[in-house]
Amino acid sequence: MNEPTPVESLDPSRRLPLSFTERRRGRAPRHLADLPAPERTRLVAEAGLPAFRADQLSRHYFTRFTRDPDAMTDLPAADRHRLADLLLPSLATEVRTLTADRGATLKTLWELFDGSRVESVLMAYPGRNTVCISSEVGCGMACPFCATGQMGLTRNLSTAEIVEQVRLAAAACDSGALTGEPSRLTNVVFMGMGEPMANYAAVIGAVRRLVEPPPAGFGLSARNIVVSTVGLVPQIDRLAAEGIPVTLAVSLHAPDDELRDDLIPINSRWKVGELLDAARRYFEATGRRVSIEYALIRDINDQQWRAQRLADELNLRGRGWAHVNPIPLNPTPGSMWTASERHVEATFVDTLMRAGITTTVRDTRGSDIDGACGQLAAQALTGGKR
Ligand code: SF4
Repeated sequence: MNEPTPVESLDPSRRLPLSFTERRRGRAPRHLADLPAPERTRLVAEAGLPAFRADQLSRHYFTRFTRDPDAMTDLPAADRHRLADLLLPSLATEVRTLTADRGATLKTLWELFDGSRVESVLMAYPGRNTVCISSEVGCGMACPFCATGQMGLTRNLSTAEIVEQVRLAAAACDSGALTGEPSRLTNVVFMGMGEPMANYAAVIGAVRRLVEPPPAGFGLSARNIVVSTVGLVPQIDRLAAEGIPVTLAVSLHAPDDELRDDLIPINSRWKVGELLDAARRYFEATGRRVSIEYALIRDINDQQWRAQRLADELNLRGRGWAHVNPIPLNPTPGSMWTASERHVEATFVDTLMRAGITTTVRDTRGSDIDGACGQLAAQALTGGKR
């Protein structure tokens, strides 16, 4: 196990004091990433500043990844701090960053305006950099094998609190903090703390900021964004209708209701069949192949007959619309759940592939720095083939 190594702060920006009102109402302070571009322009004009300053400020945030007024030298000195105070409040302060995989993985704990804490994980791969972000503080889905699930839900994140994790990751890439030389953030996966579909409005707002071209947003490709879910069926259909073809990742973990009712409590509301039907509809609406995440848990869900059952359920709904990512469980300390044995994993994968299911077992990134279940899923989608 690597010794965790603190790294320098990823965000050199100043910190704004939080008003009593903001803390009391429990809502993150207003931030430009919460707002469509025309709304930012309106607020800047109402503050008595030239309206075009809103675009300049947005470009600093979305293309130079800074919220430090002193770095905005193209803005008049007299206006910089007013603009930043108006639309760029401090949303996340670094508590600590741990490194793993010889520096190719950075896991950061952030403290939010109200003292809540969330994690993001930044991972370097050949040709791409991926950040796995949180959408909630804790999670209300209560999956028993998941550390985050044991915490319960504290609150949802705002759109800007989600976007800010991406901005900080982009700044870390840009500064060389990830790879030792400047690089670009290319991929975003919603697989950190929380169930993204349970915070739908904020998550889809963040997705819009990710794909909109500057100055409205970062201008990332929808193809490089993954939104995960344990199975909130109505929200899957809602996402399919948004016209933003992100990749959908379904954390299935069991192909039969008997086991899945125990592993994923929300399965008592939407059963495996309903969930896979919705996933198939998502594929039809977007053309994006759906990722099926399957954490292999020793003697729980790793039997060969379950691999066959999974293949049958997928093939029942057509060919080529889903890709299965089995991933060895990253056990949390003190947990009774652990990873499947390698030969059992091999049999599981072989069974899927013989049934014609595209299957990729991935490396486990950051396995020496403990992470939420969502992180495991992120590794499955972003890690290299083993
Ligand atoms: S597995 Fe995902 S949905 Fe389930 S408790 Fe953990 S974070 Fe929440």
